[in-house]
Amino acid sequence: MGGSDFSRDVARAGFDALERLDAATNFSRCYPETANAVLAYHAVGNPAGYGNVSVDRFRRDLDYLTEHFRVVDLPAVLDSDGDERVALTFDDAYDDFAENALPVLREYGVPATLFVPVDFVGAAPEGYAYRFARSPTEYEAFNDPASFADETVRDPGVMSWERLRAVASDPLVTVGTHTRTHPDLARIHDRAVLEREIVGARDELEDRLGVTVDRFCYPFGRYSEEAVDVVRRSHEVAVTSRRGVVFDPERTDEFRLPRVRAHENERRVRWDLSALRWRLTEFVG
Ligand SMILES: [Zn+2]
Repeated sequence: MGGSDFSRDVARAGFDALERLDAATNFSRCYPETANAVLAYHAVGNPAGYGNVSVDRFRRDLDYLTEHFRVVDLPAVLDSDGDERVALTFDDAYDDFAENALPVLREYGVPATLFVPVDFVGAAPEGYAYRFARSPTEYEAFNDPASFADETVRDPGVMSWERLRAVASDPLVTVGTHTRTHPDLARIHDRAVLEREIVGARDELEDRLGVTVDRFCYPFGRYSEEAVDVVRRSHEVAVTSRRGVVFDPERTDEFRLPRVRAHENERRVRWDLSALRWRLTEFVG
């Protein structure tokens, strides 16, 4: 479609209308083409946290997902048997995962990947706030010592090693690397630092938890080519924050998988999970 503001506004309005219509009728489920998707969750149950969903909402999500998709372990979104698959991921290893998300995963018997920022496990490293924000700029602002005084906006903490070990021993949970200090990898070009943040973090998770770690999540969804290269040589699969679904596993870069943001409103998430929505996007831009 043309690039004028007017045509873009019209396209956007049409798109919003389709999203509402889909919420009312679920028509996107009749679209014949299938696509797999990865959902990105953060905290479950803490009302203040970025990316938070409530426990009730999470349960409704699983009702919907188990009805319309096969909920699979992350690498299986790169396969297809003509079924539609969705994988669940949780960023930042928030403490509330154990209390709020894991019991629901068990209830539905579905797997999930938990991405751990290693140096924050148990406590924030010296000089960092234990907060994860939606952008590197916010992250830096939060790590300004002045912001430590603001106790009212704290996210739930990252789980302890003891708790993480217990969670990782659940057959439904697979632990993945989310670096050591949750930096903006797009701005790190020093190989030694990349190795420490990506390979070092993986090695420590494997040593401390006694599990194999082969999946990675880029903090803030950001990376440099050098970072992707280090991830490619040390992991099997990696997720970004780019919005989208997996249409053709064979032609998908398994080290830059797109995800659907699970904390958007329900109507948006369901529309974002549909193959139709992304095919239309190719026309709308
Ligand atoms: Zn994160």
